[in-house]
Amino acid sequence: LLSIRGVRKAYGANVVLDGFDLDVEAGECVVLIGASGSGKSTLLRCVNLLETVDDGVIELDGADITDPRVNADRIRSGIGIVFQSYNLFPHLSVLDNVTLAPIRVHGVRRDVARARGLEMLDRVGLADKAKARPDELSGGQQQRAAIARALVNSPKLMLLDEVTSALDPELVGEVLDLLRALKSEGITMLICTHEMSFARDVADQVCFLDAGRPLEIGPPSQVLGEPREPRTQEFLRRII
Ligand code: ATP
Ligand code: MG
Repeated sequence: LLSIRGVRKAYGANVVLDGFDLDVEAGECVVLIGASGSGKSTLLRCVNLLETVDDGVIELDGADITDPRVNADRIRSGIGIVFQSYNLFPHLSVLDNVTLAPIRVHGVRRDVARARGLEMLDRVGLADKAKARPDELSGGQQQRAAIARALVNSPKLMLLDEVTSALDPELVGEVLDLLRALKSEGITMLICTHEMSFARDVADQVCFLDAGRPLEIGPPSQVLGEPREPRTQEFLRRII
């Protein structure tokens, strides 16, 4: 579904992604791990066209999305992205947060969008919070609302960047359980996380980034259980 080939991205002299290759098959959950500054968020931003790449190709469903002639808005509408900070609009209800883009950007009829939005809220376990404002929700509920918003366009691919990092420990589980459920529904996901037990349970592949390169990629049992590369071993020793 997603093919990243030779992607390079630098900010001035700082080469953040240096010939990056990665494949994500439809239905797979791929987890990116690596030290702070290793380029995980930058990679997700390149895939979502929030950044342009300096070199290399990113193909989604066989189409080169790094081609400058592509319609970036159309590509982005097929990709759901969720960040550490939920970025919900505080003055809108939870349902209006979810339906805003479909109505304003994609011209979906209001009643159709609302029905679809309620369906998404039900899917993330927030059907009873549709009318609430974000500040009336717990952090975990806000993050689930942000995930519902990302799901509303039926994206081909979900990008999730440290979506549990800002949460109190007791709220992390409900968000990870939701991601597990999405995985079992066949949603394709590319995830940055420090939650190693989640990666071990749910990931099809784990990719360890080191200095902007995918140093080690494989099933979690290998990369997390029997890492071959000394730098992966050192990283895992430090965080566990
Ligand atoms: P973390 O685990 O802390 O989230 P990360 O692996 O996601 O780290 P990135 O956010 O991708 O790392 O950053 C990689 C490098 O790119 C860092 O050196 C960072 O300073 C640099 N960088 C990221 N965004 C920008 C930007 N907009 N302008 C300049 N440099 C940037
Ligand atoms: Mg990051």
